[in-house]
Amino acid sequence: MISLQGINKYFQDNHVLKDISLTLPKGSVTALIGPSGSGKSTLLRCANLLEIPQSGQMQLGDEKLVFTQKPPRSRDIHKISRQTGMVFQNFALFPHKTVIENITEGLIIVHRMPKAEAIARAEALLDKVGLSHKRNVLPATLSGGQQQRVAIARALAPSPQVLLCDEPTSALDPELAAEVVAVLRQLANEGTTMLMATHDLRLAASVANQTIFLEAGEIVETADSATLFHSPHKARTAEYIATLT
Ligand code: ADP
Ligand code: MG
Repeated sequence: MISLQGINKYFQDNHVLKDISLTLPKGSVTALIGPSGSGKSTLLRCANLLEIPQSGQMQLGDEKLVFTQKPPRSRDIHKISRQTGMVFQNFALFPHKTVIENITEGLIIVHRMPKAEAIARAEALLDKVGLSHKRNVLPATLSGGQQQRVAIARALAPSPQVLLCDEPTSALDPELAAEVVAVLRQLANEGTTMLMATHDLRLAASVANQTIFLEAGEIVETADSATLFHSPHKARTAEYIATLT
């Protein structure tokens, strides 16, 4: 359903992603683990075309894009990026908009959805993440866990084909992280296709079907999560996993 093939990304001379290939089957959850600076965020940003790789190709649903020296046309970028949703470590909610406005804004402006329909969609998603009662408050009045649940609802609002999460629990205390893990697990059970960068062993092991270990821009090992966490094939993977708590 979504695939990246032979992706290379450079920042000047820094070769950050080295010939990365991965496939996310529809309804699957993939965790991306690896040390800081290994390229996890860059890979997520390439998957939604916030960053443009220098070579490789990607396919999302019926849309295919081949990366060359010539940058893709913005309408071709948009065709793919609008089918992805992104959740950031620090929530990135609009501070001066209410919870419901945070969710409806993109639907109305980017996706041209009629306002009444956008509100109905946002209300359904707030119910799903357990925050209907916070509909009209500003993000700053919410806990971090609640803010991240709003961010997840916002990312899901346009019904993206894939939800990309960049360390969605890293800024949260364990108790608040747990409520975000619960929401992500529920989404996984409902068949949401997800790719998530994380250092949270519990999140990766309990929600992801497959896990990719990335180091210095290269995929060291990809396996089903149980295998990767309990009996990895590469010594380097085992060493890294031992550093996670
Ligand atoms: P991770 O998310 O695994 O910590 P990143 O994808 O953030 O890793 O970073 C991978 C490498 O790319 C690092 O060397 C980082 O300094 C570099 N990098 C990331 N974003 C940029 C950017 N916008 N400009 C230049 N270098 C960047
Ligand atoms: Mg990162």
